[in-house]
Amino acid sequence: MIHNFNAGPSILPKEVFEKASHAILNYNNSELSILEIGHRSPNFVEILEEARNLVKELLHLDDDHEVLFLQGGASTQFFQIPMNLLNENETAAYTDTGTWAAKAIKEAKLFGNVFISGSSKETNYTSIPKNLTIPSETKYLHLTSNETISGTQWKNIPYECGVPLVADMSSDIFSRVLDFNKFDIIYAGAQKNMGAAGVTLVIINKHCLGKVDRSIPTMMDYRNHIQENNLLNTPPVFAIYVALLTLRWIKQQGGVPAMEKINQQKAALIYDTIEKYSLFQSIAAKEDRSIMNATFTISDKSLEEKFLNYCTQENIIGIKGHRTVGGFRVSLYNALPLESVQFLTKIMCSFADSN
Ligand SMILES: *Cc1c(COP(=O)(O)O)cnc(C)c1O
Repeated sequence: MIHNFNAGPSILPKEVFEKASHAILNYNNSELSILEIGHRSPNFVEILEEARNLVKELLHLDDDHEVLFLQGGASTQFFQIPMNLLNENETAAYTDTGTWAAKAIKEAKLFGNVFISGSSKETNYTSIPKNLTIPSETKYLHLTSNETISGTQWKNIPYECGVPLVADMSSDIFSRVLDFNKFDIIYAGAQKNMGAAGVTLVIINKHCLGKVDRSIPTMMDYRNHIQENNLLNTPPVFAIYVALLTLRWIKQQGGVPAMEKINQQKAALIYDTIEKYSLFQSIAAKEDRSIMNATFTISDKSLEEKFLNYCTQENIIGIKGHRTVGGFRVSLYNALPLESVQFLTKIMCSFADSN
């Protein structure tokens, strides 16, 4: 058995892989592959509608919130959001918490003014800023709920900040309970916690749209996708089907609260092990460390290589840290079984005991 701790694309439930592969050969006993059916055929429209409704159900979204499956990755949302929400002479507030937040900031500056409400750049992005400054005329506040690379996560979402919230939840969507209706826009690339690469979940409070002066290209204007029920053009049919299978699996497991419970358990196990041995040092500040991506180093660099080799030999993969941070990153997404974390921590203990 391989223990897959990849940061993304990453592990999905085994039954999702099985059902998805079967659908490639014969979708729903139609004797047709899911790859060869029309996107406006009843077979696919059913998939799309069930997936959109399941997102609403699992996140308890109200009727103001629309669910879209778009393309271009979370990275396209970095510019599509300010393009739809921010006039050139207006200001949006952003939190600078890591590599992903910084990329969102760079794109927003192409469309309007950016005010940095809080930053952890000074601490190498190992923490989450606590005291935010938000000018009252700000159009929205953007945050990255989980910074996948450094391994930090917002524990206290600033719900009461007085301006609409926009969040990049690419690496923690469906992993913990939040008040999702408090956000005007939530976006997430599917390839970490909810499916295959190629589709991006975008949740929009429709009342925030239609307030900018610029002309927006047809495909970039959220209103057109909402108007056409997510069938403005050919959507990524297969990736949406994989997302549907994952959403059904999440529901079967008991929904987002059940996911959060097991994710907390997995995170506690790994962080307790890191803390138990002086050999390992956590990268993220304790109060801000992520339940999705645990990052740590070993002070002796030669031991880092030895540890990595030991893990590889034990079929533990995907734990090498991002090149900008170094060390290790253990991703604990929804589909990663508790047993894999138990196995990894056993290996960590035996390595620490003998080095
Ligand atoms: C992976 C990731 C992205 C990039 O997603 P793409 O779908 O590759 O564009 C953006 N934000 C966060 C927080 C991520 O983890």
